[in-house]
Amino acid sequence: MQSQPFTSLPLAPRFLANLATLGYHGMTPIQAECLPPVLEGRDLIAQAKTGSGKTAAFGIGLLHKLNPAWFAIQGLVMCPTRELADQVANELRRLARGVGNVKILTLTGGVAMRPQIASLEHGAHIVVGTPGRIRDHLGRATLDLSKVQTLVLDEADRMTDMGFYDEIAGIVSACPERRQTLLFSATYPDDIRYATAKFLNDPLEVAVESLHSAAQIEQRFYEVGFEGRDEAVARLLKHYQPVSTLAFCNTKIHCRELAETLRAQGFSALALYGELEQQERDEILVLFANRSCSVLVATDVAARGLDIANLDVVINADVSKDPEVHVHRIGRTGRAGESGLALTLAAPNEKKWVRLVEEYQGVSVEWHKLEELGEHLEAAAPAPMVTLCILGGKKAKLRPGDILGALTGDAGLTKEQVGKINVTEFNSYVALDRHMAHAAIAKLNDRGAPGPEFGVIKGRYFKMRFLDV
Ligand code: ADP
Ligand code: MG
Repeated sequence: MQSQPFTSLPLAPRFLANLATLGYHGMTPIQAECLPPVLEGRDLIAQAKTGSGKTAAFGIGLLHKLNPAWFAIQGLVMCPTRELADQVANELRRLARGVGNVKILTLTGGVAMRPQIASLEHGAHIVVGTPGRIRDHLGRATLDLSKVQTLVLDEADRMTDMGFYDEIAGIVSACPERRQTLLFSATYPDDIRYATAKFLNDPLEVAVESLHSAAQIEQRFYEVGFEGRDEAVARLLKHYQPVSTLAFCNTKIHCRELAETLRAQGFSALALYGELEQQERDEILVLFANRSCSVLVATDVAARGLDIANLDVVINADVSKDPEVHVHRIGRTGRAGESGLALTLAAPNEKKWVRLVEEYQGVSVEWHKLEELGEHLEAAAPAPMVTLCILGGKKAKLRPGDILGALTGDAGLTKEQVGKINVTEFNSYVALDRHMAHAAIAKLNDRGAPGPEFGVIKGRYFKMRFLDV
């Protein structure tokens, strides 16, 4: 895909060099629309689908203006959930390598206040957080927003859906009047337009087409009755054999049921829905990203905004009643110029929803028959990796290099047999080749260990266990 280079923007050479290191060779369409006015200091309302690169569209503007020598909170980014705040903070940290020593702090619920207060006392340049927790800090006067130059409302539609409006209004009033405000949203209905109008000063509105070009995502529709759909999903997976699949269901109950059916057949499938505990959600996303889980079955709410890359296939186990949601779902595949495949199941009485999709996209859909898939399907294949959870993380001064060292040393694995390593505050997760993992980890247990569930890393005993999918 031909896109405008970042070098057409007035950015410092060091900043541009870092973008190139990140593999950002050209702007995505939303970045090309947003960045020139953002760099000029204008307020902005931007609407674009998930995965279009919105974080850098505001992040580059925010960082460009930031003065690292001034120890004050100069940028505030509000996000609806902790996961999204973590994702945005990580992306900003990557972008900030081109600026120098920039301290980026996340303030979200679900974790203790005290360490957040301590970090705030040490000073930060940018705060990324959820409205509830930011409000709490303002209430305790542990957060000073009086120096904020750039205020970002990310996924504004979802924040208002979640009832955060009052918190947001309170937080905005704690920021200086003279500031730049950027609002990003996947949808931009009138109620949000009215509700947020007073936060923005003469904003420019940009929207990037949310329809995908037909050439990029191939869509196939299958007519299947309600009782047959879980079995149909299994058949589709056996036929297409994708490495990573996101399957959407309209309800939490169906999510769980489909994931269970698939697991019973030998697929590495997990369900992601709203009411999971935060740690469960985090672990599921780690397992999906490191290829220990190959089918993630999710509700729309749970999957919204998550940066899940490299999807071969999206399956709609239930067709959505909302054509815009349908387009968002299938937009998870076929990103960045790659071709994608979207498979949708619809019962005869759901064809009315498919007709809405046709109207919305302006083309008629292609119906296929399950029988086309043939009778002789391969057996279900489990995911290529399994995840070892080590009960020790940053707090225990465990680093990815230490873990890799133990695995390629004492455990006898090759570098290729070790996948992604995620080190969090208290736990570490490492993906290992499914065939070698158990035998290798047994070697980390030595005679002096307090029990069979311990392994030695850098001369210290850590409890560890496999997360089963
Ligand atoms: P959104 O917020 O619109 O859902 P993100 O900001 O999370 O999207 O970006 C989606 C993915 O695309 C991220 O992994 C990000 O690193 C990557 N990305 C963003 N901009 C570019 C670019 N210009 N070139 C290549 N990759 C990019
Ligand atoms: Mg985003």
